[in-house]
Amino acid sequence: MKLMMFENGGEARLGVVAGERVTDVAACDPSLPATMIALINGGADVLKTLADMIPGAPESAILKLADVTPALPIARPGKFVCVGLNYAAHAAEGGHDIPEYPSLFPRYNSSLIAAGQPVIRPTVSDQLDYEVELTIVIGKGGRHISEQDALEHVFGYTIFNDVSVRDYQRKTKQWTQGKNFDGTGPLGPVVVTPDDLPSGASGLRITSRVNGETRQDSNTADMIFPVARIIAILSEFMTLEPGDVIATGTPSGVAHAMKPPGWMKPGDVVEAEIEGIGILSNPIIAEG
Ligand code: MG
Repeated sequence: MKLMMFENGGEARLGVVAGERVTDVAACDPSLPATMIALINGGADVLKTLADMIPGAPESAILKLADVTPALPIARPGKFVCVGLNYAAHAAEGGHDIPEYPSLFPRYNSSLIAAGQPVIRPTVSDQLDYEVELTIVIGKGGRHISEQDALEHVFGYTIFNDVSVRDYQRKTKQWTQGKNFDGTGPLGPVVVTPDDLPSGASGLRITSRVNGETRQDSNTADMIFPVARIIAILSEFMTLEPGDVIATGTPSGVAHAMKPPGWMKPGDVVEAEIEGIGILSNPIIAEG
């Protein structure tokens, strides 16, 4: 199932996407969850009830996908963890060794934006870079989750563009500031449940484009630490909770490795695409 949150008169609500149509869940049955996070917290039974409801949804509850404004799938994740350097060729292009344990850093909610919203190039830097990333949404929480059981804890997969301000990222050895400028974290628009994708969302083509020019083109099978391993590693030191979000790192082809660097600038449009999930598209504007 393909799910999304969309704007509706100042509030975001849950929709089920099928082709070019979106079923407004609240318009079908107000007793069903009105948000993605409520659906996640409802567990597998509620997801099944929702799936059973869709074929009989009234025409009045169905919207055109082109007419809806996406909202963040999860507006305020309890945790948003990013994995750095999870593709060998990307580690190499940045001058890093292939890691034996993943680099991890947080994303704060104030950096997140929905599909279609502008990425903000800050006044203090012009080194604005893109990073398409397969992204996990945790369903069932837990601690000390084994790699073998880890995929049972995935609610679904979405797309993150880990837009980075490179000179701030490289001011110190940790990356927090370069990864947390306001308006630099496009997420969504859809969350796809695991039953619609290969196991661990492996083997999917993953690409990014700036103004239609392909910049990154790889495959999720090339991740050094695959989805199940990442969940095991994170839950070794902290409790994962329903609705936590984990971005799994980006392949090679980022702007800062180009000669000259291909930084994004106001007026550009950046697209992040993952096969079987969709396209996350955002324009770039200058900080006002
Ligand atoms: Mg990244």
